[in-house]
Amino acid sequence: MRLTRIETVHLGEHPTLLFVRLHTDEGLVGHGETKYAPDALHGFVHGYAAPLLLGQDPLRIDRHWRTVYEVASRCGAKGVEMRALSALDIALWDLLGQAAGMPLYGVLGGASHDRMPVYNTCAGPVYARSLDRAEGVGRAGVYEDLDAFMTRADELAADLLAEGIRGMKIWPFDPFAAATRGQRIGLAELDAGLEPFRKIRRAVGREMEIMVEGHGLWSLPAAKRIAQAVEEFEPFWIEDLIRPENVGSLVELKRSTRTPMLVSEMLMTRYEYLPVFEARAADLVMVDPAWCGGVSEARKIGQMAEAHNLPVTFHDCAGPINLFAGLHLALNAPNAVYQETVRSFIRTFYPQLVTTNIAIEDGYALPPTGPGLGTALLPEVLKRPDATVVSTPAA
Ligand SMILES: [Mg+2]
Repeated sequence: MRLTRIETVHLGEHPTLLFVRLHTDEGLVGHGETKYAPDALHGFVHGYAAPLLLGQDPLRIDRHWRTVYEVASRCGAKGVEMRALSALDIALWDLLGQAAGMPLYGVLGGASHDRMPVYNTCAGPVYARSLDRAEGVGRAGVYEDLDAFMTRADELAADLLAEGIRGMKIWPFDPFAAATRGQRIGLAELDAGLEPFRKIRRAVGREMEIMVEGHGLWSLPAAKRIAQAVEEFEPFWIEDLIRPENVGSLVELKRSTRTPMLVSEMLMTRYEYLPVFEARAADLVMVDPAWCGGVSEARKIGQMAEAHNLPVTFHDCAGPINLFAGLHLALNAPNAVYQETVRSFIRTFYPQLVTTNIAIEDGYALPPTGPGLGTALLPEVLKRPDATVVSTPAA
């Protein structure tokens, strides 16, 4: 089998997303996805990666990862190049599964879990279409879960629990960061940020796990203050209260609180996670297959976590291809603890984009059926008026 064409697909409605499609001479099409700075991603995919991959056997995935990584890392491996490689790698694994006639979790080594618990990241349908983290606040409507957790977390928790979803991620301290660029959080702000926790516990007691997101907005002392303040509500984890670059600061934050600490979808490649493991800087590990280096790298980082007796969880706040990739990885990984989901995305725009949507029952994602990822972009998506499809054929 040979790769004959690389396509990128960008949709005006989802300006931060970029889809990749890898075509083969046997008629198979593998799908990948990543997010942020799509113009630059597009440039790397067609200008740098395509000449390395076109004409090659798509099933030599490790070889291709290394080849593209070595080009990408000549001037620093982080950022656009790794996200582009992530999308391409996801598509290669999709092709491997299709060629084998097996679901992706099958070719990864089979399912360690019959189904995977999900939690709901409480974002609304338009969240993360720009870099504005408050996008969706004040919007009314179905599945406006960001506005809901800020104003009526009790109703939201009860609603989620009624669906069988027993975990919710919230970021109620974010609005207070901008005033001091995250250097300080006042006691009154702290108290206001705790209100959703009180409402959740009053409404559903201890039936709901709470994940606390910090988006890397805070200084170390402010993060410590938040971490200690939320302890009484026993969150399942705190996440990215500080940015993850300084491992010593992570260790100091982790040791300052009894709340388990998760690190971090902001890291890319096993090389950035390695010092986190070595320093015992995390209680749980999060990876994003569409950012960290694809299925190949997410799997390796998950296995590094396993070797350190740590659970791994897979990030998704993007599009449906990434969610499917994460779910397959989670089903395979013996140490997977959750797959992240955004119900507002799954129920609003995912069905407009892909042939098969994720199946969730009673708070668990079910194994996808069908070979490879088990989903693909709908043919009509490529013909949408807001679609830009760019294709590079093999020479
Ligand atoms: Mg996060």
